Amino acid sequence: MTSPHTARHIDTSRPHSARMYDYYLGGKDHFDVDKEAAERVAAAYPGIFVCARENRAFMHRATRVLAREHGIRQWLDIGTGIPTEPNLHQVAQAVVPQARVVYADNDPLVLKYAETLMHSAPEGRTTYIEADVNEPETLLNAPELADVLDLTEPVALSLNALMHFVPDPQDPYGIVDRLMSALPSGSALALTHCTPDFDPTTWENVTKIYTTAGTPVQFRSKADVSRFFDGLDLLSPGIALGHRWRPEAGDGSSEGPAPEPTDAEVSLWTGVGIKP
Ligand code: SAH
Repeated sequence: MTSPHTARHIDTSRPHSARMYDYYLGGKDHFDVDKEAAERVAAAYPGIFVCARENRAFMHRATRVLAREHGIRQWLDIGTGIPTEPNLHQVAQAVVPQARVVYADNDPLVLKYAETLMHSAPEGRTTYIEADVNEPETLLNAPELADVLDLTEPVALSLNALMHFVPDPQDPYGIVDRLMSALPSGSALALTHCTPDFDPTTWENVTKIYTTAGTPVQFRSKADVSRFFDGLDLLSPGIALGHRWRPEAGDGSSEGPAPEPTDAEVSLWTGVGIKP
């Protein structure tokens, strides 16, 4: 992919959330500085690996449910992360080959690997935008978005493990409202969010590690995560822990007969809502 941003500096002087998340998932696209910070998180919260895996597994299931049961053919995935197989378009296009997916992230390393996200099924389309969720207007007005998405047809907005990087002073609820207001009736919001609800002390420590590393975070309670879905019709089972949102056998959330994780290990609220 050619982009004016391709040469943007990849900062290895401090850890980045996308690269730390890659470490949690067992990927190889991170630097020592990320590994060290991720290991500090894992020392404070050993559940992080379970949480990351369940987060990914939720994305797979929610994408399939939206494609199969709600007629969704288009996705806007913000905070995509470093490509990890299967990526959202691969999950969606396995159900509907004509699915169209716009990916967006603000990390230059994600941009570097974005070509992997462009290997669409021939019937579908994908693209990547380097964009910040804190600037929803810029994102919504990006010409690449208009090229791939038809905003007169339903779109699923996918915000997985993203909004905890948008603390309250940055108006996270206003941002999600603005994004959803650009989408027609029948559109969906699929969202996951880490929570301190089951182990507040641990999450206070995780918050400190991210904040000290230069990444502000705000992990939220179930009530505060539910607010992102105000005005939407929540699909059953409502706001649920990742491993309890419509679990399927062999969905990739656990390899082999792993014991069911504890609520504190997962510590991830998930939900899908439909715009009436
Ligand atoms: N959505 C993926 C990756 C989650 S990791 C998944 O659930 O598997 C969080 C991602 O959000 C990282 O890739 C990070 O770079 C991105 N991110 C963090 N703050 C962002 C912002 N303000 N705008 C866009 N992306 C952001």
